[in-house]
Amino acid sequence: MTIEEVKANIRDVVDFPIPGIIFKDLTTAFINPDCMRYFEDEMYRLYKDKGITKVIGIESRGFIMAPILGNKLGVGFVPVRKKGKLPAETIEVSYAKEYGVDVIELHKDALQPDDVVLIHDDLLATGGTMKAACELVRKFGVKKIYVNFLVELDFLEGRAVFDEEVKVDSLIHF
Ligand code: AMP
Repeated sequence: MTIEEVKANIRDVVDFPIPGIIFKDLTTAFINPDCMRYFEDEMYRLYKDKGITKVIGIESRGFIMAPILGNKLGVGFVPVRKKGKLPAETIEVSYAKEYGVDVIELHKDALQPDDVVLIHDDLLATGGTMKAACELVRKFGVKKIYVNFLVELDFLEGRAVFDEEVKVDSLIHF
């Protein structure tokens, strides 16, 4: 499958969740096994020789591809969740959203200082969520952070929010 064919499988939903937003709906790509294979193969190609030891997915759309990649790399999956969802002791960060403040958490024993971490989410818009996830992961003193998205909305220039030492890659650009 070509990248253009994958792009054609991503549905635009106009005015969702609020007027003025064109929502990139990936469910229409996830339903197609050829698109899933493309995502899996391309992510594996990017990260197979990076020494990744944990793959983190951000709740909830990051939970779709992150465990698949973790399995393929032979490493574990770790969920970043919204506040109050993880049952054991956590470390958290709060970050400003368009309206109000959000808090995300990781289990305190989920990462170790010798980990090389890949953090995955489905889509990069403004980058606020992923920047907060990077800040959270940095609290564990890990060796290196890679960041991955399936889709990046280039016109929002979200990648500008990341520090230089974080390596950011997206499979598809709009
Ligand atoms: P941000 O923190 O602005 O980069 O937003 C990232 C999160 O919001 C991702 O988890 C996306 O799933 C979701 N998101 C934001 N904008 C869009 C959009 N236009 N289409 C699809 N998902 C979006």
